[in-house]
Amino acid sequence: MNTVGDFIKSGSIDIVPILTLVLRKSVASLISHSDYQLNNIEITKLNELVDKRAKGVPFAYLNNKKGFYHLEFIVTEATLIPRPETELLVDIALEILDKDSNYEIVDLGTGSGVIAVTLADIRPNWNLTATDLSVFALEVAKKNKTKDINFLHGYWLDAVGEKKFDMIVCNPPYIAEKDPHLKELTFEPISALTSGTDGLDDIKAIIKKAPEHLNKNGYLLLEHGHDQQAEVVKLLRKDFNNIKRFNDYSNIERAVLAKVKK
Ligand code: GLN
Repeated sequence: MNTVGDFIKSGSIDIVPILTLVLRKSVASLISHSDYQLNNIEITKLNELVDKRAKGVPFAYLNNKKGFYHLEFIVTEATLIPRPETELLVDIALEILDKDSNYEIVDLGTGSGVIAVTLADIRPNWNLTATDLSVFALEVAKKNKTKDINFLHGYWLDAVGEKKFDMIVCNPPYIAEKDPHLKELTFEPISALTSGTDGLDDIKAIIKKAPEHLNKNGYLLLEHGHDQQAEVVKLLRKDFNNIKRFNDYSNIERAVLAKVKK
C-alpha cells in the first residue's frame, strides 16, 4: 500500500512537508485524504526527496524556499539558508535608522538577498546595494528582490568601488574552519560559513575597509559567532565608537552595531 497515511506512518524525516511538496496539497488536505493512493510518478518523486532528506539535505534545498521576515525567498545550494537570527540585523537597522531618509545602505555577501531585499521591501526610499562574491548567489538574490536593488559582484567592499554608505550591514561567514558544528552543515556553501582558523578573517577584512566606505556618522552592523562578540568589539574600537552589542532571540551574543569615527 502506498497511501498518504502509509507514508506518514513511515516516520521518515520531514515526511509531511515532503508529501505537501510532491502532492501540492496542504497538511490539512493530506490528513483529510490520508487514504489517497500515490501514483508511480508521485512515489518515485517522493522516494527521491525522502532519500535526499535522510542523507541530510536540508528541507529548504528540497523545496528551494525559506521564509525570512515577512517574505519567502528562493534558496539554492549556491546560497546559505537564511537563519532566523539574521532577522535581528533587519530589526536593528529598522530601529535605528529614520524611515523617511534616503539612506545608502549596502548588504555585503547578500547570499539569497534576505537582508537587502527585506530592508528594500519595508523601506522603499532607502537605496539598497547588495554584493556577493558568488555570481550564482547574485542570480538567486536578483530573483528574490521585490523592489529595486543595485547588485554588485565582488569581494566584500571591493565590489562597491568608491561608493560610500550610511550603513554597511553584513552576515559574514564566521565559523572556525575546524568547528565540529560544520559537520551538520555539509550541504551549504562552505565559503558562506567558514572564515579562517578562528572564524574572524572576513570580519577583520570588513572592519578594516568599512571606514573608507562610510559617510560621516555611518554605521557598520555585523552578525558574528556566539563566542566572538568581545573580540569583534575590540577590533572595532580603533575606527568606531558608540559600539552596541546585541543578543539574538535565543539570548546568544550575535550582532554589533558601531558608528564610524569621522
Ligand atoms: N549562522 C550560521 C550558523 O551558525 C553561520 C554562518 C553565518 O550565518 N554567517 O549556522
